[in-house]
Amino acid sequence: QEDQSLVESDKPAETFDDVGGLEDVKKKIRMNFILPLKQPELFAAYGKSAGGSLLLFGPPGCGKTFLARAVAGEIEANFIHIELQAILSMYTGQSEHNLHDFFEKARQCRPCVIFIDELDAMGGSRNQMRQHHDRMLVNQLLLELDGLQAENENVFVIGATNTPWYLDSALRRPGRFNHLVFVPPPEEAERQTILGLKLKGKPVDSLNLERIAAETKYFSGADLEQVVSDAVESAMERMLETGEVQPISQNDVKAAVKSRKATTLEW
Ligand code: ATP
Repeated sequence: QEDQSLVESDKPAETFDDVGGLEDVKKKIRMNFILPLKQPELFAAYGKSAGGSLLLFGPPGCGKTFLARAVAGEIEANFIHIELQAILSMYTGQSEHNLHDFFEKARQCRPCVIFIDELDAMGGSRNQMRQHHDRMLVNQLLLELDGLQAENENVFVIGATNTPWYLDSALRRPGRFNHLVFVPPPEEAERQTILGLKLKGKPVDSLNLERIAAETKYFSGADLEQVVSDAVESAMERMLETGEVQPISQNDVKAAVKSRKATTLEW
């Protein structure tokens, strides 16, 4: 039967090995999401079946989306990304319908990870019409999440927000987003790991990543990714000048760090 749905899904290739650091977060996700799917008979003894939901929060660029994709990669599941902001811009009625379509698609392509970004976008408005609209959408989301327990086995819902304190409290009740997990900015050792991951397979000239990690306090994973891509660009410019592959040098990375700003500081 042909899939008529307009909702897009993909099968991420990323796994936990691609996510630098965040060991506690990975452990919690393994326990609640991954192992119950891989060893259902063991977890059934505790009344735990595969599926459920999780809410990730933390500063932007520290790996919430990346982690959600890696969860799908770990369990070879389909991945559906819902950008709530886009749904909210639709007419009342249409946005609920659309949200339902996403969940319907997820049920059809199980196992599936459904990732709901910008959850805080819902309910932040002072405008009365908007508030009513938001409430309708929150209700629809609650309906879909409650359905999760009955008919959504092997559907994994991961929500993300930068500001969990603005989240509608109804969404935090048991059976909904009751696992709240902080995705913190990377510590020094984690920054070194992330830099290493982003440079993997690229030509480098005896880089001292430990030093760079020490000099990138408050940089997010996304900031570090930018640093690496700037440094790569400098090396490529030299390549064009010389006609030969030029390794990425400590100076390239140092200059890149200087020209970028740490973005987790203000959060
Ligand atoms: P936002 O709140 O803005 O949506 P986010 O927390 O979802 O941000 P991501 O989109 O997951 O952030 O991260 C942006 C990019 O930064 C990722 O595509 C990834 O390449 C890189 N990145 C962030 N954290 C890590 C990490 N721990 N390990 C490896 N890469 C990371």
